[in-house]
Amino acid sequence: MKYIIGIDIGGTKTSVSLGNTQGKILARQAFPTKDVRSTLAQTKRIIHGYLGKPKTQNRRILGIGISCAGPLDLTKGVLIKSPNMPTWRNVALNKVFSKAFRLPVVIDNDANAAALAEKTFGAGKAVKNLFYYTVSTGIGGGLIIDGEIYHGASFDAGEIGHSVILPAGPKCACGKRGCLEALASGTSIARVARERVKKSSLILKLAGTKQNIDATIVAQAVREGDKLAREIFQEVAFYLGLSVTNVIQVINPEMIVIGGGVSKAGPILFQPMIKTVRKLTWARPYRSCKIVRAKLKDIVGDLGAISLVLKKRQLLKRQ
Ligand SMILES: [Zn+2]
Repeated sequence: MKYIIGIDIGGTKTSVSLGNTQGKILARQAFPTKDVRSTLAQTKRIIHGYLGKPKTQNRRILGIGISCAGPLDLTKGVLIKSPNMPTWRNVALNKVFSKAFRLPVVIDNDANAAALAEKTFGAGKAVKNLFYYTVSTGIGGGLIIDGEIYHGASFDAGEIGHSVILPAGPKCACGKRGCLEALASGTSIARVARERVKKSSLILKLAGTKQNIDATIVAQAVREGDKLAREIFQEVAFYLGLSVTNVIQVINPEMIVIGGGVSKAGPILFQPMIKTVRKLTWARPYRSCKIVRAKLKDIVGDLGAISLVLKKRQLLKRQ
């Protein structure tokens, strides 16, 4: 049996896992992401631990996959900057790990890696073309064409969170107005709820204080019959549906996979969203596309990193 090491570097936590080629995670350690130096040192210590065991020593490892948040330069394997980690700038991740372990290193952004993980091990196993959304604090996306991540001319393909849905809409963290992320992310659900709640609102009762309101609480309020919460989710579902419609019209994918914390809301999000998509999309591409929830949940980052190495091996073998 051969093994793969997966590193998932996120804004709040980093996890380092050891998995096999079937996508089974055999060991996993996570810790809070800090500055570049201490985070990378801790990551290397964990990898040394995995390589120290006879079964998983260096020669049995196919490579190291790295999934991380933020724009990357994929030709150099460099993390350019990260939205939630201001001290992480121009980090040569590829070089650091290939030098330390003399193993092949493959890197990609978190949404692309997650899309590939869903294709390789999750909801999209049976299809070749899919678009993946992660709707969480922000909104990310990944496009899989013919089984491979499509990166685009400057590695920015799939950045669905920053497609403009409402030109005069709320300001987005990226500086533009009306991006999907500013309308339908967990952060925007919480912001809108805070703006609109009245003293008697169930949302406020569940949260305790305005500051405590988050997307999970708004979703709970929908399930308990709150009108305002339902309105907010219907708006979010409409904007997401609009986005999914545009993706289907352009790409004609076999599948749309939706993951991330907000997708856990389930039918209260999916039902009105699919209604919008059905209404606004041409019948043929709509019928050809399944819209499903992501399957891999909390280990999608680890499996994303692992699937990057598997895909790279496949491509090399084909040459
Ligand atoms: Zn934006």
